[in-house]
Amino acid sequence: MPDIIHLLPDSVANQIAAGEVIQRPGSALKELIENSMDAGADDIQIILKEAGRALIRVVDNGSGMSEADARMAFERHATSKIATAQDLFALRSFGFRGEALASIAAIAQVEVLSKMSGNDIGTKILIEGSKFIEQSPASCPEGTSIAVKNLFFNVPARRNFLKSNNVELRHCIEEFQRVALTNPTVAFTLYHNDKPVIQLKKGNLKQRIVNLFGGNFDEKIVPVNAETTRIKISGFIGKPQYAKRTKGEQFFFVNGRFIRHPYLNHAVQNAFEDLIPEGSFPSYFIYFEVDPADIDVNIHPTKTEINFLDARLIYSFLRSAVKQAFGKFSITPTLDFNAEQSFTVRPLRPGDSVIPPTVKIDPSYSPFNTSAPDKDQKNKTTGWEQLFSPDRFPGVQQELDVQIPLTDNKEEPIAVSGEENGSATFIQVYNRYIVTPVKSGMMMIDQRRAHQRILYESLIEIFSGSKPGSQQLLFPETLHLSAADTALVTELQNDLQLLGFDMVNAGNNCFMVNGAPSDLPQEMVIQTLEKTLEEFKNESGKTTTQRQIKLARAMAKSMAIRDKKKLAPEEMQTLANSLFACSAPENDLDGGKTLQIITVQQLAEMFK
Ligand code: ADP
Ligand code: MG
Repeated sequence: MPDIIHLLPDSVANQIAAGEVIQRPGSALKELIENSMDAGADDIQIILKEAGRALIRVVDNGSGMSEADARMAFERHATSKIATAQDLFALRSFGFRGEALASIAAIAQVEVLSKMSGNDIGTKILIEGSKFIEQSPASCPEGTSIAVKNLFFNVPARRNFLKSNNVELRHCIEEFQRVALTNPTVAFTLYHNDKPVIQLKKGNLKQRIVNLFGGNFDEKIVPVNAETTRIKISGFIGKPQYAKRTKGEQFFFVNGRFIRHPYLNHAVQNAFEDLIPEGSFPSYFIYFEVDPADIDVNIHPTKTEINFLDARLIYSFLRSAVKQAFGKFSITPTLDFNAEQSFTVRPLRPGDSVIPPTVKIDPSYSPFNTSAPDKDQKNKTTGWEQLFSPDRFPGVQQELDVQIPLTDNKEEPIAVSGEENGSATFIQVYNRYIVTPVKSGMMMIDQRRAHQRILYESLIEIFSGSKPGSQQLLFPETLHLSAADTALVTELQNDLQLLGFDMVNAGNNCFMVNGAPSDLPQEMVIQTLEKTLEEFKNESGKTTTQRQIKLARAMAKSMAIRDKKKLAPEEMQTLANSLFACSAPENDLDGGKTLQIITVQQLAEMFK
């Protein structure tokens, strides 16, 4: 029998490596920009076509490469940055695997132009799918230009896996932001399809943040600084009153590299505890400087995850650094935690009247239903409690598996006199559950989950044809976004329009919201959009269902009334009626129960 083991050709090995390092245009872009940084560039231009699918070109004014180096750079494990395994532990530059260029060249057509400073002539290289095509002298400016064309041209499976251009562009911009935020003294310009999208001048960190995230960021952040012998923390944190419903601007960097770190994120969130309402997120741009020996950066191929050797110490150090930053800038909690509008407080504009913040949430709100909630619904011939019987919804669980929190003993017993005349009594327990008698016994509804279900089904109905009611806003509201979220909103703009949100891209990562669903109070428009974007991003991670369904889910979740919201009896009735008009009343959007029933038999059992 012949031997069957053989070495893979380099082109195949590189393609395999590429699968790990280069998942999408954004990852190739990241590698190219990091190389330019490592080459000492201070002016970098990024040119994208079709979200990087057709072209990613990064032009820098860095050190350039010699003729031989330019050729060498595309060999696997070719790097100028480390020579020994020891070096891995003392690494401060970005790339270190020596794999990026070889990987990219395995799955694209690459053209390099490079000239070292002081040289008269530069060099040009063409490589296609790991195949070296040509190298020739070329006249070009000092520095390096690397063009990556038709990414995945030879890997159809990968190419098909890519998302829409808007999604891919969003990834590119996210990667770009992370590098831009660590190098404020480097100028960047990013073009997409020949239009300049982002232009960043050299400056300091604060200027960079403001340039990236919108002019009004200036007043929204305060510096954070702390230092021990082993670690230095610097950067900016958002003031609590500007905490958003979206997680957008949360960045950790370690030794100049973006990282994710849920545990340390918790430390920041924890420092904000009691200063911001639940479900909102502070912005932060936090930079750690640590001895490279105290971290392990090589645990993840895309290098956004790292291990700190002493994460617990850093946790408490970070937490107190953030708290201290509040103290220094005397940010006291001025928020009324119950008033949701406190998120959208903005300076008064001429003509604004002063309205005390109250929470006006209509539990039956549906963007397409422009009439007020039907107060007369209880007189309709079919009361919802008749509609509900265990036979109608055989799937409804009969066992008592809900733990109803015991109410305060001091509470007066509530006289329940439902069932007669088709009129029902609703009581609210813990501002959270609605309890009411039904034919078979006693029903309990989780108000937030029920409302989610109702909203979702009405939004889906809108998508399937019925006209929503939209109204022009008296004063257009401005939605300030990160560049990444701008790409997301652009992607969703048509669908949002269908739902009644009339928005115009005002440039500079701002959208003017000119119209909104008629039932949505003006002061909740921005907050609803922000929360919806955040929920949408969460949805995106989960499944591959269609965009409109995801958007409906995200919006329903963001608009559903919260627990702890006191409801009037008519509101409870409307909620129950609307719930039973749904096609799947028993479950919320994540499969949780919207309602539970205790049957008369079960009650009798309890009192045995
Ligand atoms: P790594 O960055 O891990 O060393 P890469 O494959 O990304 O590996 O790059 C290989 C080498 O090519 C680098 O070590 C560097 O010497 C050279 N190189 C890549 N891009 C540039 C650039 N823009 N300017 C100068 N040299 C570069
Ligand atoms: Mg590199």
